[in-house]
Amino acid sequence: MGKQLVSIIIPVHSEAGNLAWHHQKISDVITTLQPDFEIIYVDDGSEDESLDAIKSLAKSDERVHYISFSRNFGKEAASSAGLSKCKGDAAVMIDADGQHPIDYLGEFLKKWQSGYQVVVGIRTANAKEGLVKKIGSKVFYKLLNAISDGETIPRSTDFRLLDRLVIDEFNKLTERSRITRGLVDWLGYRRTFIEFEAQARHSGKATYGFNKLVKLALHAFVSQTTKPLRFIGFLGGLVTFISAIAGLFLLVEKYVFGDPLGLAVTGTALLALFVSLLVGLVLISNWLLALYVESIHNETQNRPLYIISEQG
Ligand code: UDP
Ligand code: MG
Repeated sequence: MGKQLVSIIIPVHSEAGNLAWHHQKISDVITTLQPDFEIIYVDDGSEDESLDAIKSLAKSDERVHYISFSRNFGKEAASSAGLSKCKGDAAVMIDADGQHPIDYLGEFLKKWQSGYQVVVGIRTANAKEGLVKKIGSKVFYKLLNAISDGETIPRSTDFRLLDRLVIDEFNKLTERSRITRGLVDWLGYRRTFIEFEAQARHSGKATYGFNKLVKLALHAFVSQTTKPLRFIGFLGGLVTFISAIAGLFLLVEKYVFGDPLGLAVTGTALLALFVSLLVGLVLISNWLLALYVESIHNETQNRPLYIISEQG
């Protein structure tokens, strides 16, 4: 067996101020490690000189390869592109801004060599993180886990190592709106975790603004679960049931028995109950529609029905 090759995948969006510094750090770390390395930069439509910087790195370092997008497609698309280009027996995804400490690379590799197929970096609390982001991420993971079928580990990041088996399966996934770490979690395989303290950004500022994060979170909900659809059906059933029972009770009480309880129910009240009965029926029909939408949704996602992790 030849020497192992490990791919380092780095999504880059306007990180000109970080690239040279970051590349130097990577070089320093990987010379101390066993396997061969290739470094794949994915330029995700940078608006600064990042691409030039990457090209000059590629010129001076033959381990460097790059992909450049025609425009900004988002980090998720960038990591997917890197994963489909890489040739390594394993790949590690690292942010270009220095927030993922490269010094941990050796530990990731050790876990991999001991048999794990996915090694996930977990962020420990980050003091510099804004309050909104902090609470937002907590609420997001709570909600996601409450309503979805899979389990997503809070504070897990894209700083991860994937074995070649996992990379190949990942590359078969076809859905468009994707969150890399969600899909990797969905794939399964033998996983382990490494805690790291997120560093401050070396230079520049995070391009994942509030709007982009909210959009990503909504995509995650929609792609991970269809439970909200089913909830509509439950709500409709409940409203219909309650208003039917209450309506019947009042009608019988008033018109059959001549209001022995002295409730003096008005026509308006009966009308209100009738309306809510109809609302319930509408919700139930929505739910029926939703069932169809759900199956279309699942079909168009085109995920394979099962994943084979090993074969004899
Ligand atoms: N990134 C990217 N495309 C984008 C936004 C970000 O490839 O549209 C890259 C960015 O260059 C960095 C990583 O993704 O290497 C993480 O981005 P950022 O630091 O902005 O986000 P955060 O640290 O808040 O997750
Ligand atoms: Mg960052």
